[in-house]
Amino acid sequence: MQAGATTTSSNAEQLKRRVVDEIDKHADEIMGISKTILTHPESGFKEHKTSALAEGVLNDLGIETRNGLAITGVKGRLEGSSPGPSILIMGELDSNIVPQHPLADPDTGAAHACGHHCQIGNMLGVAYGLVRSGVMSELAGGVNFIAVPAEEYLELEYRTGLREAGKIEFLGGKPELIALGELDDSDICMLTHATTDPPSFTIGKTNNGMLGKTIRYVGYASHAGGSPHLGTNALNAAEVALAAIHAQRDTFKDEDQIRIHPIITRGGSVVNAVPDDVRMETYVRGASFEAILDANAKVDRALRAGALGVGAEVEIATAPGYLPFRESADLADLWRANAVSLVGEDEIAEGGHSGGSTDMGDVSYLMPTIQPYAAGATGRGHSEDYMVTDYEMAVINPAKAMAMTVVDLLHDGARGATSVLENFVPEMTKETYLSTMRELFTTRVYTE
Ligand SMILES: [Zn+2]
Ligand SMILES: [Zn+2]
Repeated sequence: MQAGATTTSSNAEQLKRRVVDEIDKHADEIMGISKTILTHPESGFKEHKTSALAEGVLNDLGIETRNGLAITGVKGRLEGSSPGPSILIMGELDSNIVPQHPLADPDTGAAHACGHHCQIGNMLGVAYGLVRSGVMSELAGGVNFIAVPAEEYLELEYRTGLREAGKIEFLGGKPELIALGELDDSDICMLTHATTDPPSFTIGKTNNGMLGKTIRYVGYASHAGGSPHLGTNALNAAEVALAAIHAQRDTFKDEDQIRIHPIITRGGSVVNAVPDDVRMETYVRGASFEAILDANAKVDRALRAGALGVGAEVEIATAPGYLPFRESADLADLWRANAVSLVGEDEIAEGGHSGGSTDMGDVSYLMPTIQPYAAGATGRGHSEDYMVTDYEMAVINPAKAMAMTVVDLLHDGARGATSVLENFVPEMTKETYLSTMRELFTTRVYTE
């Protein structure tokens, strides 16, 4: 039995070597994909060019695809030689909107200031490695690839319009794909995100979850100089609400990591009339679902206080955002060993908790999931000085680490995947997840 075990493990190492060699051989093409995507940034649910590019690469590798999933998503599958679990490799198609970014699309302001162009590259890098090396014939189960729309949770009015038109149900790409059943045939999920933080890789990070809110104050316009006493100032209502939200902050527990960051998207129409239509958007973020709901109730109370204070009306629309991200430790261990073999122990950091959010959180509630981070970017995320400077680090290394982990999971009758799955207790079933998310959609109007 001992001898058998040794043969098996050296076999896995040989398969990994073949996969890594092919990724190296095609490194320029793979990095070229990311660099091309950088030149046509597209924000969520509008990623038509990026999606077509990803689909073209999958097709060129001989992988059949389905497109138009959640508007722009693309999915392909590689089959192993025998039945078994399926590994899902994902990349996110969307950019941010940062009009002042030097590479921003002049018409839309879209710019890759979160490095998602590298994710599509490293996802396709995994496909290159697995296809060109021919290792799938020695693996069980299968590998699904999904280029996912809309991870950045923004343009809420636009997305609400898509929802009202029946084109999407949820405002983020992964929740929408879950609802469409596109994750039903996957058992384990990996995605590598770019980061500006050294060293080469970070693993073990957890994330806040969040809700999204759009708020509208309705007042009454009147002459701002001649007869303000006849008006009801919706901007003053919003101002009182912002102060009331700030007044909640010392009621939040440190460990709940609450983040509330409202913006005013419309502050009035003309300067000589009392503002009668003022709109806001905000997230309510927190480290646990319960903490988010608690903070959300306080935010609603504060928003109503604004309306009450000046006699305006407020409409509060709340939508599910993303769940807190939790990592599968077993899957992370497999990935970490491969990452160490690529970059060495000193180049891998253990991440802490991030106040940011991702819809990888939703996936992580349903199946074993990791989201390692790969360095190679400089500047500040979501801002004009964010730039990926090292594509080897942000695209090639992550492709190798994920492809090697696929081998660990699926070789030898998918023993690795089976053991990761045996130890995993999902936080929610898909049915509970969907009903929980659906209940979070509310629109309430308060007149006083
Ligand atoms: Zn981002
Ligand atoms: Zn991101």
